[in-house]
Amino acid sequence: MAEAACSECQGTGWILEESKGRAVAKRCKCFKEQENQVLIEQAHIPRRYENCTFDNFEIHDSSHRHALKISKQFVKNYPVQDVGLLFIGPCGVGKTHLAVAIVQELIRKKNVPCYFCDFRELIRDIQSTYTPDSSLSEVDVLAPVFQKDVLVLDELGAKRTTAWVDETVFYIVNNRYNHKKLTIFTSNYLDKEEEEDARDSFYKKKEDSLVDRIGVRLRSRLYEMCKVVEMGGKDYRKEIKQGSYRF
Ligand SMILES: [Zn+2]
Repeated sequence: MAEAACSECQGTGWILEESKGRAVAKRCKCFKEQENQVLIEQAHIPRRYENCTFDNFEIHDSSHRHALKISKQFVKNYPVQDVGLLFIGPCGVGKTHLAVAIVQELIRKKNVPCYFCDFRELIRDIQSTYTPDSSLSEVDVLAPVFQKDVLVLDELGAKRTTAWVDETVFYIVNNRYNHKKLTIFTSNYLDKEEEEDARDSFYKKKEDSLVDRIGVRLRSRLYEMCKVVEMGGKDYRKEIKQGSYRF
């Protein structure tokens, strides 16, 4: 690598240490820093979020404090926990900030390969692979989404999809679930009880809910594979109902 050589190891990544009268080769600390740098680059974090950390997360109410606590626990427990996270709440409350902060911490503290993926971008990329002159194959687009140990799927439901895109998204999420890979979702879509949906449509339905956007099947899968973390939830009419989780 054509980096400025480290003064400790002269860029070799190894240092010799004396142990019981013998020289033993050890990894230099610059090697871990470089590894982290590579993981950060591969994590595909959008520029506007690249400085998001736990330290600069702003707490405006108790739901934010709770969300920060859960996020830190997630990093601390990784890889022992068996559920991901679903941050849910209105725009601008810091859902993506926390998701990115988790990624940064997992990389820096635990060398975990992570990948950030914007839902709309993912849909667009998948669709673009179906055009005849596409330079990307579906495998190029989907490989990191399937393979990385922790995936952030940001703005779930932010784009209307077709049945076959729904099918692809379900396949991705389900595949990660089956392989016990954790996924962190964010969504602006308020979740609702079924009977509440029915009542709304009887009157006039103003806003889509999460289930309108992603379908019943994916929603129920999400609840199995995630702990739901509500943020800025003051205007929610009902507490989000969820199954058991293990934190
Ligand atoms: Zn070095």
